Amino acid sequence: MTLLSTRGLTKQYAGLHAVEDVDFDLPQGQVRALIGPNGAGKTTFVGMLCGRIAPTRGTVIFDGKDISTLPAHKRIALGMAYTFQITSVFANLGVAENVALAARRRLQGAAVQDAVADALAQVGLGDRIDQTAGDLSYGHQRLLEIAMGLVQKPRLLILDEPTQGLAESEVAAFKTLIRALSDTTTILLIEHNMSVVMETADVITVLNFGRVLAEGAPSDIHADAAVQAAYLGTG
Ligand code: ATP
Repeated sequence: MTLLSTRGLTKQYAGLHAVEDVDFDLPQGQVRALIGPNGAGKTTFVGMLCGRIAPTRGTVIFDGKDISTLPAHKRIALGMAYTFQITSVFANLGVAENVALAARRRLQGAAVQDAVADALAQVGLGDRIDQTAGDLSYGHQRLLEIAMGLVQKPRLLILDEPTQGLAESEVAAFKTLIRALSDTTTILLIEHNMSVVMETADVITVLNFGRVLAEGAPSDIHADAAVQAAYLGTG
């Protein structure tokens, strides 16, 4: 089953096509990586999926429903969760409170506490539940953000450059986390770190100048001459 698709999705700024005519299909259960050079249109594309950027034209279909004009909060209610390039945790609140805020979009009462504990355990922050969010390391704050997404039991989890700024050991742990999450959640990963992409994605979509340059299994993308020339710089 296709969980998310776009047809002819386009965003034009003045004379520039940030995203142009993108047809995209993400089957349920897949880990999809979206890659491309700086300025390729990844952030703009994801902004249109989430409802933060209005398309110039084209459609976004989620779970068979045209959501092209739905505001962001209604898309979240339908089961989309996303974390941004920049951390969005409330530093002065507790770790658990941050996740509870997200959980209350879906749950009430005692169920919130259980869901918070589950989500924190899933990302490996179970032992940090009583800390203040601002006291966590940067890497742990990024995991906290993912917990804030997971607690909403999303059908689609969109992660925008989740490993940016992480130490190597944290990146390794992140790969393991993505593989574990992929058992239950469809994931769209915008990522610059090629080892993360190659080791976690089922399928990679490459954007270049706002258009889809290539799409396929990691080994095929790695061997694709056009991708190498445009992105990997080894062509
Ligand atoms: P990065 O990897 O650097 O985050 P990206 O692939 O996410 O890049 P976008 O940020 O989507 O790329 O940008 C795509 C193109 O659209 C770029 O040329 C950018 O300068 C342009 N662009 C993005 N937002 C705007 C805006 N609000 N107004 C004008 N141009 C924009």
